[in-house]
Amino acid sequence: MFENLEQRFDELSSLLGVLEYIAIIFFLLIVLETAWDIYTKRRAKYKETIANFSIALVNALLERTLYGAIFIICLTLTESFISYKIPLTWWSWALALLAADFTYYWMHRFEHEIRILWANHIVHHSSPEYNLSTSLRLAWVDSLIEWIFLVPMIVIGFDVTQTIVAFLFIVVYQTWIHTEKIGKLKFLDHILNTPSVHRVHHGSNRKYLDKNYGGVLMIWDHLFGTYQAEEEKVKYGVTVPLETSNPLTINFKEYWLIAKDVRSSKNITDACGFIFGRPGWKPKENKRSKGKSLEKVS
Ligand SMILES: [Zn+2]
Ligand SMILES: [Zn+2]
Repeated sequence: MFENLEQRFDELSSLLGVLEYIAIIFFLLIVLETAWDIYTKRRAKYKETIANFSIALVNALLERTLYGAIFIICLTLTESFISYKIPLTWWSWALALLAADFTYYWMHRFEHEIRILWANHIVHHSSPEYNLSTSLRLAWVDSLIEWIFLVPMIVIGFDVTQTIVAFLFIVVYQTWIHTEKIGKLKFLDHILNTPSVHRVHHGSNRKYLDKNYGGVLMIWDHLFGTYQAEEEKVKYGVTVPLETSNPLTINFKEYWLIAKDVRSSKNITDACGFIFGRPGWKPKENKRSKGKSLEKVS
């Protein structure tokens, strides 16, 4: 087990080298866009951008230490119960990317449709602004739970390193699409996650709520009925604005609201509803009352 872990850390760090180069190029793009927006006075307020960069800094530290270890240890432990393995070949890499993209779609959809998961994913959606730095705005607790969604790939027989790298590719790909500077891309907007497709995902307009969950490919959204093209101007953020740029509040406010709802629950069923129900779920008699959740009420 320990030899296995050591080997995993080595394999992962060499493969991540390639992804790291892509991430560095994307980071330079983010810095360039930020500088350009400030120079051309397109970004009058800096608070949201500072919040995005601060959140990213903490994430970078956590991912390189605690979270990287959690992913490797938990998935390697899972793998030790599996007696067969898909070999590492070009076709298994293609399959792993496809499986990771499918996994990402469902993980992302659950993060929108189950309130306790929305409590961390809301971090990514809570900014009323949309630019490349929004891609850095990911919850500090994301990686504590996201490894769980990769367990099915390990059970199918995919290699742990291959699974993590394929998943990270799907995540890193999405950096460049957080921009208003690229318009529609015709047929590409139907098959790939593009700036236009992802603007819709960040919209709080009624017709845009809970749409376009795909990571790289849009086939899953077409297949499961969640695809929406960009038609009207996007209003970014959540339907109940957060109205703060404090990274701590951004990361934990929805958890606090869940705790308050659970404390006010009359029974265990209601408490479970507040935790595992859709964002905005209310006990029957309160359904008409105004929700406290920061969710995108659909
Ligand atoms: Zn989302
Ligand atoms: Zn996004």
